[in-house]
Amino acid sequence: MKRIGVLGLQGAVQEHLDMLRQIGEIEACMVKYKADVENIDGLIIPGGESTAIGRLLSDFDLTVPLKARIENGMPVWGTCAGMILLARNISNDERRHLEVMDIEVMRNGYGRQLDSFKTTVDIPAVSAQKVPLVFIRAPYVVDISPQVEVLLSLDGHIVACRQKNMLATSFHPELTGDLSFHKYFADMI
Ligand code: GLN
Repeated sequence: MKRIGVLGLQGAVQEHLDMLRQIGEIEACMVKYKADVENIDGLIIPGGESTAIGRLLSDFDLTVPLKARIENGMPVWGTCAGMILLARNISNDERRHLEVMDIEVMRNGYGRQLDSFKTTVDIPAVSAQKVPLVFIRAPYVVDISPQVEVLLSLDGHIVACRQKNMLATSFHPELTGDLSFHKYFADMI
């Protein structure tokens, strides 16, 4: 059985665990300590506050082992703050975190115009049905390398993309009740 971890330091942790458990045939667990990193087949980095999660990652000595597993091909999915943690570059912040994905993100890109909003989109690579999206002080991607595949752009901004074993979304599928993105990620494992 696939064992998918959710980084459990801060943010929307329980919501992701609940969604994974609804899919079935998946063991979902919280990842908090170094030893947990070795016992998973894939990892979700939830939304929350990227500065706080980034600091806790290093306080819990998780940055180096996680980075190594991702670079060795473990599937990872960052939602919102999780996207910021994966990014190699952050346009409006000097901090860097895991620096594994060839994307440049703008923190709070949607922050000033629209603090939080919902929409529904067609995203055939992920689901045959329309998918609801929830954005909360969300980042978006401003630049990608040729290795990164865009899954969804909204109003000219990239909000979902994939680079091999890495998936990043600006929005929060764990808050919608729609399992499409969780199933898509489980299929990456
Ligand atoms: N704005 C937050 C940050 O910069 C991310 C928001 C979220 O994860 N919902 O970390």
